[in-house]
Amino acid sequence: MSATGYFTHSDCRKHEMGPGHPECPARLDAIEDRLLITGVGDALDRREAPPAPLGDIELAHDRMLVAAIRGLCDQLADDINAGGPAYTQIDPDTALNVHTWNAALRAAGAVIAATDAVLAGDLANAFCAVRPPGHHAEHNKAMGFCFFNNIAIGAKYALERHGLKRVAIVDFDVHHGNGTADIIKGDNRILMVSFFQHPFFPYTGADTHEPNMVNLPVPAYTKGMDVRELIEMMWIPRLEAFKPEMIFISAGFDAHREDDMGQMGLTEQDYAWITQRIKDVARRHAKGRIVSALEGGYNLSALGRSVEAHIRVLADL
Ligand SMILES: [Zn+2]
Repeated sequence: MSATGYFTHSDCRKHEMGPGHPECPARLDAIEDRLLITGVGDALDRREAPPAPLGDIELAHDRMLVAAIRGLCDQLADDINAGGPAYTQIDPDTALNVHTWNAALRAAGAVIAATDAVLAGDLANAFCAVRPPGHHAEHNKAMGFCFFNNIAIGAKYALERHGLKRVAIVDFDVHHGNGTADIIKGDNRILMVSFFQHPFFPYTGADTHEPNMVNLPVPAYTKGMDVRELIEMMWIPRLEAFKPEMIFISAGFDAHREDDMGQMGLTEQDYAWITQRIKDVARRHAKGRIVSALEGGYNLSALGRSVEAHIRVLADL
């Protein structure tokens, strides 16, 4: 029996965007603490995330974006040496520090390495505890706390480098994955299913109807039971018909009722239920192959409990 992999790297803790920013290194500590105290961490196959090769990042991104992020990090290091500020702001919510480049390479590299291991049968499935998150990063634009789209890179990598024919992306973050949608638009080898609070940042996804996406905008204060019903009606039949050979999960936990970033009403039980339904589809069509990567989730206690619930289902604990 192969285990559930847990990919992370210390560089992912070093990227940070300034005092008080919710997308902070303590998020990874909250996850680690919870996995330690519950013993769940002991059941996982823990692995270091390698840096992603640039050629693999460029499966999902314009090489000009990749060069620009690297250039901004290098420039920042020079500016700091000359007495400048510690951050470069790229939008009102998103900044890089001198560690962002390496963290972003490790975050994407985690998903790539997890994909390799799961497709080799070396791991049953995997969770990547990484930051920066990815699902707002578009083909040629970093935004919304995201630089490279880790999950879209993984999906493209599975198709291009492993020769899979069909992969699904499940996104249960409270925000619409505009970046993923931008990258996979028109690529019918990829089916994306998601729900997201609407109207809400980034204000996309509700009015577009792409043939390879099931976007479910839901109003603020939607509860878990209503989300489950929507998933059962709208996601599952599409996933079953699509028969993905592998499933990627943009695992954001900011739709939790204790998370003030959004206004939705999910609990860790809902995340366990969603994970189980995805796992059922994966078992039927994809030999159980799932690679999940952290996106949002900003209430540290709720984040720790939700990731634990998600991993317990992935690992059959
Ligand atoms: Zn989010």
